[in-house]
Amino acid sequence: MNLGERVRDDFPLLHRTINGKRLVYLDSAATSQKPRVVLDALMEYYHDYNANVHRGIYRIAEEATARYEESRAKLAAFLGAARREEIVFTRGTTEAVNLVAATWGRANVGPGDEIVLTIMEHHSNIVPWQLLAAEKGARLRYIPVTDEGRLDLSALDGLLTERTKLVSLTHQSNVLGTVNPVRLIADRAHAMGAKVLVDGAQSVPHQAVNVQALGVDFLAFSGHKMLGPTGSGGLWARYDLLEAMPPYHGGGEMIMLVTLERSTYKDPPHKFEAGTPNIADSIVLGVAADYLRGIGFDAITAHERDLTAYALERLRTVPGLTIVGPAEPVDRGGAISFTMDVVHPHDIAQVLDQEAMAIRAGHHCAQPLHRRFNIAATARASLHLYNTREEIDALVDGLHAVHRMFTRSPHPV
Ligand code: PLP
Repeated sequence: MNLGERVRDDFPLLHRTINGKRLVYLDSAATSQKPRVVLDALMEYYHDYNANVHRGIYRIAEEATARYEESRAKLAAFLGAARREEIVFTRGTTEAVNLVAATWGRANVGPGDEIVLTIMEHHSNIVPWQLLAAEKGARLRYIPVTDEGRLDLSALDGLLTERTKLVSLTHQSNVLGTVNPVRLIADRAHAMGAKVLVDGAQSVPHQAVNVQALGVDFLAFSGHKMLGPTGSGGLWARYDLLEAMPPYHGGGEMIMLVTLERSTYKDPPHKFEAGTPNIADSIVLGVAADYLRGIGFDAITAHERDLTAYALERLRTVPGLTIVGPAEPVDRGGAISFTMDVVHPHDIAQVLDQEAMAIRAGHHCAQPLHRRFNIAATARASLHLYNTREEIDALVDGLHAVHRMFTRSPHPV
């Protein structure tokens, strides 16, 4: 029995039927399904020790605080952080990138400075920098993408200059599946004196990510894509950077002392966690990390690589289908985007939905990347540890049916 078959029973939602058919969930790049341990831990929090953190001195408040900080420690270990205080809980990748732009960015980026991004970024790693650049008079530059869907590293020499303050790039593309050579780019950026942020939204759930090995300064990640609850996630940053950064939001629990004129702030990470945090979901994110670690990334990555290779091979049999992104299962993950001659991606998704298959259609929050390939939209199937070869077969059969439907019928649905 392979990993997908072995873990499926852990995920109650994967047993749902739609139109009398078993759900085939192929949209994990958008959000992942949750194992029962995660659902149970969420219920346990509200059932047994729901209380605010870092405030009360009574039993359940102390339990909630201990579990919240334990989860931070688990995530620090999960990512190879030097200390647990390097993890700031956020609502996810988007908030983590915005936090860095609004704090480190405002303090360190000035007129004429440059921020280097890539064409394959999710909007959440473009728009915050556009806002900062507009405010500061800085300039955004972009590493191009090759026809195969990889970063064109030959452009790096021209893009990285003494004006570069930050390189911010995705570890794994949510559209192309491409895994980028972060270490190589980080070393080049550091040699020019720039800092490096990596968007780990699509890598942290699927491969062992170690921030020391990546050699970056900031890493943003989303809990809901790594089997955890929505609204959870975080920012890892080197402690010296967090210490030097001004606060993000102002409010309760991030302060040491408040007078009517001014305030002083707590040490990181609390300086960046104003107000009542997302206690339950942040605690449960640690449970999701434990679950992933329990299975082990050697097994997860191997299984997903096998499935991706199988999917890429089988998709080639569908007439008129073009994969947008690396067509070989090398340095790529299980987000597989494609177009089909004569069928709009939304039609593909709609027809497959009738067969209880969930895939995504659209620009996947990466409009510049789609523009680069002269397309408005793609259909995307994206995999996680719980998917199986049978589900890939169902997808491919479904796509053959879509092709037949749109090429034979004079009145396609
Ligand atoms: N970056 C990438 C590569 C993503 O795929 C996503 C979500 O799809 C994000 C950032 C944004 O993550 P979130 O919506 O969890 O903040």
